Amino acid sequence: MPAYHIWTIGCQMNKAESDRLAGRLEEQGYTAVDSPAEADIIILNSCVVRQSAENRIVNKIYSLRPFRKANPGVLLAVTGCFVGEDTAKLKKRYPYIDHFFPAGSNPPWLDEPVSPPLPAVVKPVEYLSISQGCNNFCTYCIVPYRRGRERSKPFREIICEARELANRGVKEITLLGQNVDSYGQDLPERPDLADLLTELNDIPGLARLRFLTNHPKDMSDRLIDAISRLDKVCEHVNLPVQAGSDAVLHDMGRGYTAADYLRLVEKLRTAVPDIALSTDIIVGFPGETADRFRETYDLIAAVNFDTVHVAIYSAREGTAAARHLEDDVTAEEKKERLTAIEDLQEGIQTAINARLSGTTQEILVEGKNRGKWYGRTRTDKLVFFKEKSDLTGKLMNIVIEKTSPWSLQGSIPPTTEEEK
Ligand code: SAH
Ligand code: SF4
Repeated sequence: MPAYHIWTIGCQMNKAESDRLAGRLEEQGYTAVDSPAEADIIILNSCVVRQSAENRIVNKIYSLRPFRKANPGVLLAVTGCFVGEDTAKLKKRYPYIDHFFPAGSNPPWLDEPVSPPLPAVVKPVEYLSISQGCNNFCTYCIVPYRRGRERSKPFREIICEARELANRGVKEITLLGQNVDSYGQDLPERPDLADLLTELNDIPGLARLRFLTNHPKDMSDRLIDAISRLDKVCEHVNLPVQAGSDAVLHDMGRGYTAADYLRLVEKLRTAVPDIALSTDIIVGFPGETADRFRETYDLIAAVNFDTVHVAIYSAREGTAAARHLEDDVTAEEKKERLTAIEDLQEGIQTAINARLSGTTQEILVEGKNRGKWYGRTRTDKLVFFKEKSDLTGKLMNIVIEKTSPWSLQGSIPPTTEEEK
């Protein structure tokens, strides 16, 4: 049987995209293999959001040169953000790669997608892309250059795909887009994310809905209302702030101030008490003085986020920041700032998670790892517990017994007489 191997790095969009491609290949009779040496088709799904990611994909492509010589019959293809519009240039530089195809499209040897395109291996939790590309052009970011302008997937197509996933046993869907808050603005009837969640909430079989990523300048009251109103929408929002200094936010082109952000957090917490918040931070952006960094540090301490993804600024060729702003924070300072935020956040997470000790939490069981079942709370906290029977895809009430900054341990409470 013909076989395929997909290598993926980068964000959830890439993981969803690899699942989609895997689905298409399996429809055509290919099976997945872990080892590239056994594959007839190899696809590399790339990320270039930071220089380190770009280095990984370039190294990977180079490593395929000797592989290509030894295996002339294997089809080699590269997709993801490494591939821009101009594939001819890439083809010239790496002639031993058969195809470069832009993120979200199909390689020439795959037919047009059947509707709806489905991931190959259905798990209890799945991602579903609702849009591609981005219109924001934050000054540090390469995504709009590589993935193009925002294109929303038609409303009915998303509903249809979600129903199909639910029919196949998926219990939780995370909607994906670079900015889910501007979903639908390019569609004729201009539906928004709140409309989408309202309709998805009625799909039988689905237990949970999430969505990524929000942009603080675009998050609407209608969406906040939908989160508080709809029972399947989880109390968890990813709301990247990037920095706490107004000067830095301005230079990043983010379109909000630290005070705007804090007001939005307040609004969310009023509408949805106990909502979990995660964020993204960039340290060492051009012009980030020690005082400006301090404002980011203080904002993180003030908000009390459940999770913070922190990255060191990496100048990306072609972006406005790389063209106009000097990368003036030293590598050493960048590293120190990263560590300072990681340390601060570890303390915050220790305290937030410790408060869950003794409480009962609803977990959607995703699978088993090293003898323990694991799954997430509605607030996206990872929980481990032991049990003999197979619980994959089940919603379980778990009593939390031990906590750490990164995960929780618990057990199934003993059944009471009444329940028996
Ligand atoms: N559309 C999403 C995701 C963008 S990329 C958003 O707006 O949040 C994911 C994260 O990578 C960003 O949130 C940002 O924190 C980080 N990132 C993007 N470009 C970067 C760069 N040039 N250097 C360092 N981190 C970067
Ligand atoms: Fe990049 Fe900004 Fe678009 Fe996110 S919103 S993908 S950071 S340009």
